[in-house]
Amino acid sequence: MTGVILVTGGGRGIGAATARLAAKRGYAVCINYASAVEPAETLAAEIRDRGGRAFAHRADVAREDEVEAMFAALDRELGPITALVNNAGLSGHISRLDAAKPEAIRRVVEVNVMGVMLCAREAVKRMSSLHGGAGGVIVNISSVAASLGNPGEYVWYAATKGAVDSFTIGLAKEVAKEGIRVNAVAPGMVATEIHAAGGDAGRLERVGKTVPLGRHGEVEEIAEPVLWLMSHEARYITGEILRVSGGR
Ligand code: NAP
Repeated sequence: MTGVILVTGGGRGIGAATARLAAKRGYAVCINYASAVEPAETLAAEIRDRGGRAFAHRADVAREDEVEAMFAALDRELGPITALVNNAGLSGHISRLDAAKPEAIRRVVEVNVMGVMLCAREAVKRMSSLHGGAGGVIVNISSVAASLGNPGEYVWYAATKGAVDSFTIGLAKEVAKEGIRVNAVAPGMVATEIHAAGGDAGRLERVGKTVPLGRHGEVEEIAEPVLWLMSHEARYITGEILRVSGGR
């Protein structure tokens, strides 16, 4: 067994590809979801059918009580966590800032920033040698939006990913001597439902053509570097933000 991993938002998109690959690499997997129960339960069953250990757990990562309950369930079901992928996220509806609703912006900030911090906080409490833990790895899913800014689309989303980058750098330094590495992967344009959910399904093809490598990315192309950052091969890497964007 490689370890015990929690993938937030692990039922669909990049999270599902990451959870599937982690199981293939020998991790016992907790697949978190917010509302789409069917894909998360199906993926957990698929992993168990192949002889792995997995369970799906519903929790809104923006809610402290639900995050605490999820980590308690993880402790019971799979044992001490060794790896966390902070993947759950959303962009909100594409628009200019002056046309966006404050409550929609607030929700994106709460999920993309508070969610990452709350889950990392619970993970550090368990992984840190300061608390008797055996160490671990955290990978936060950022976005190239953090540096592009995405004007006219969702500048608030870009700002949340900028926060994820700063958090990654700071937390990595804070816990480095306690056996925990913290890195981020910043995807470019990846084929998932997030674009249609933002109200612009055509964005994938349109922006995909402008990528230097000439196409959008697939979820597996994000999962691979996430698992690599968690591996022994990446043992000297912490506080890094790895762009996986086809050169964008
Ligand atoms: P996706 O297909 O829309 O999946 C989003 C996942 O996040 C779903 O599993 C969803 O759960 C979960 N989620 C949303 N709100 C949540 C909450 N409050 N609590 C727990 N889970 C929640 O999106 P994706 O493209 O795979 O995105 C995954 C991550 O990659 C996000 O952080 C996103 O910002 C980042 N990213 C994506 C792209 C891209 O082009 N796709 C580019 C850069 C960065 P349910 O299944 O229950 O709805």
